[in-house]
Amino acid sequence: MSPDSAILNSGGEGQPTRRAFVAGGIAAAGLGALGGTLGGRDPWEILARGISGPVVRPGDPGYAALALPYNLRAASVRPAGIALCRSARDVATSIGWARRYHFPLIGRSGGHSAAGYSVTTGLMIDTRLMTQTAFNEKTRVATIAGGVRNAGVYQALQQNDATITHGRCPTVGAAGFLLGGGIGFNIRTLGVASDALVASQIVTADGEILTLSEKENRDLFWACRGGGGGNFGINTSFSIRTAPAPSRVTAASLTWTAKIDRVLPALLDALYESPVRLGTWTTLDAVTPRQLAKGDDVSIYFLGQLLGTPAELRRILAPAYAVARPAESTIKEMGYWEAQAFFSEAAAPSEFQNRGLYFCGPVSDAAIDTMLWWLRRWPGTSIYAQLSFLRTGGRANAVAPHETAFVHRGNEWYMIWYLKWGEEDGKELVAENLAWLSAFYDAMAPYAIPQAYQNFTDPSLKDYLLQYYAGNLPRLQRIKAAVDPARVFNFPQAIPPR
Ligand SMILES: Cc1cc2nc3c(=O)[nH]c(=O)nc-3n(C[C@H](O)[C@H](O)[C@H](O)COP(=O)(O)OP(=O)(O)OC[C@H]3O[C@@H](n4cnc5c(N)ncnc54)[C@H](O)[C@@H]3O)c2cc1C
Repeated sequence: MSPDSAILNSGGEGQPTRRAFVAGGIAAAGLGALGGTLGGRDPWEILARGISGPVVRPGDPGYAALALPYNLRAASVRPAGIALCRSARDVATSIGWARRYHFPLIGRSGGHSAAGYSVTTGLMIDTRLMTQTAFNEKTRVATIAGGVRNAGVYQALQQNDATITHGRCPTVGAAGFLLGGGIGFNIRTLGVASDALVASQIVTADGEILTLSEKENRDLFWACRGGGGGNFGINTSFSIRTAPAPSRVTAASLTWTAKIDRVLPALLDALYESPVRLGTWTTLDAVTPRQLAKGDDVSIYFLGQLLGTPAELRRILAPAYAVARPAESTIKEMGYWEAQAFFSEAAAPSEFQNRGLYFCGPVSDAAIDTMLWWLRRWPGTSIYAQLSFLRTGGRANAVAPHETAFVHRGNEWYMIWYLKWGEEDGKELVAENLAWLSAFYDAMAPYAIPQAYQNFTDPSLKDYLLQYYAGNLPRLQRIKAAVDPARVFNFPQAIPPR
């Protein structure tokens, strides 16, 4: 559990309440650098009285944890205030308030923006208290409020033997995940998560509360299926068509530490040929030249979920096993949600940089040689550097690139770098690591499609709009111009109006 959700879920002393703010918060925190009194009335008091949720300001209990983004690179950007909204009406009031008093604003759901983009020095409009979920047994549509995190989505689905394409990190916000697409083990059988979105509610820059679907506000609905969080408004609910959850799956966690140069091509070839019933993440851990000299090497950490038996999975992976047996191996049939607990990845916030690329076809020997060369030249940090492959395709490729705003179709792999570092890693070392990552990325780019996944936002990309949206960019820009010409919703890589 993240520190902020701990505070909010505790219901204890750390929990900010509206009453606490109104009674003591203003006096304790003062009016703040950005606030001050306007026309004799404190604007923060106006906001606090205008919404049903609490408003938290610097100095209030819980403020520091609430302000913190998951990517600590952005942790120094602190909001002048946080509106913890309980409803779409609260969100509309908060947007109107920020515009009236000329505060920049930002939406925050799970706070896991990979580039730390859900931060502001103005008003943070946080949906975390909007945690309602509902399930329509007839249509099998799950409706979740704008602040539900993955863990809440899993719970709602599990109770109804349903599933969608979902990730593995329980604290990622469903809002950011769905708005940017949403990828995971089920991508090959169910498509991108936003493909299953049937409706959403959004509060626009004008404070309008709109329902989006194929029938209502179609353009904006199209944009919210992959256009990325933070661009068009604040979404306060999502309705998703679910699929029946399989009763049993085979879950695998395997680690190879030997004969990597031969295991890796054998494994990637086997995964390329594998049936869509297999969802996989294959992660390579980088080593420093010093570790290499001591006898360590790049390791392969494989996670797989097969709608099939352990024997079938072993058959699929036989070419890799023929080169070397994994040093650690679990292949086990289990219930679907037991498997999701087995795969669950919850890591503490840290400073990190993601980069990513899509690939078509089998991964070539030249591409594998290049990645191993770079993975063995990691400068090193106190945490890790990893390169992961998600096998994509299947149902995700059955949707045309222009059908929704999620343009990345026609690929077979998504490749993502995770470079993490901590406080103890000095500035120079971090710069050296970022330069290594950049050179590594450049070396892999010729083998890939020039597209990046907008949910693993990469602040170092220069042509980010084209990489995130390709041919869908002009339509996204026209929609932005129609709903938010003044760029009320803005962040460093926001879609500009046109
Ligand atoms: C540890 C980790 C694991 C991840 N795993 C996966 C994975 O398996 N699959 C995958 O597809 N992605 C994954 N992601 C990427 C993740 O989907 C995106 O980072 C996503 O944007 C995070 O959403 P959030 O609500 O938590 O983030 P936030 O930081 O709250 O928001 C992200 C962006 O959306 C905006 N926003 C927030 N709330 C709203 C709202 N209600 N309406 C409109 N805009 C809003 C913010 O302003 C910001 O621009 C992972 C990220 C991390 C850090």
